[in-house]
Amino acid sequence: MRCPFCTTQDTKVIDSRLTGEGDQVRRRRECIDCEERFTTYETAELMLPRVIKRDDTRETFNEEKLRQGLLKALEKRPVSIEKVEEALLRIKRKLLASGEREIVSQILGEWVMDELKILDHVAYVRFASVYRRFQDVYAFEEEIEKLKIPKLLTEQ
Ligand SMILES: [Zn+2]
Repeated sequence: MRCPFCTTQDTKVIDSRLTGEGDQVRRRRECIDCEERFTTYETAELMLPRVIKRDDTRETFNEEKLRQGLLKALEKRPVSIEKVEEALLRIKRKLLASGEREIVSQILGEWVMDELKILDHVAYVRFASVYRRFQDVYAFEEEIEKLKIPKLLTEQ
């Protein structure tokens, strides 16, 4: 890395440690030429793809909206928050692993349904009923409020 004082290319790392929650590396560096010291911070740049909606508009992947949707689908179901977070993490990993800059929302919707199918059947049916109507993974959070869940399903 170039020295910010004399712009020489030769600097050496004299100390390196994790900061924050371990997602950042702090490095002390020393210039081989002028011997000035400086600090750099490095974080992995993880770019989640944007979501292409049905009407062809794009939006940033919204983790919080997805979390709220999952929690709504799982309301009063015997599923721990840890399980929900694990499901979210798996969905995010799939998004990252896709390596795409944009991803159609239907794929995201299918991943969510895959996770719910494993987590809880009632939640899966709840989500699927809204999802099939709107074809939008985010619509769930807003629409579930208006939707009457058949008693049979919730008491199953
Ligand atoms: Zn220097």
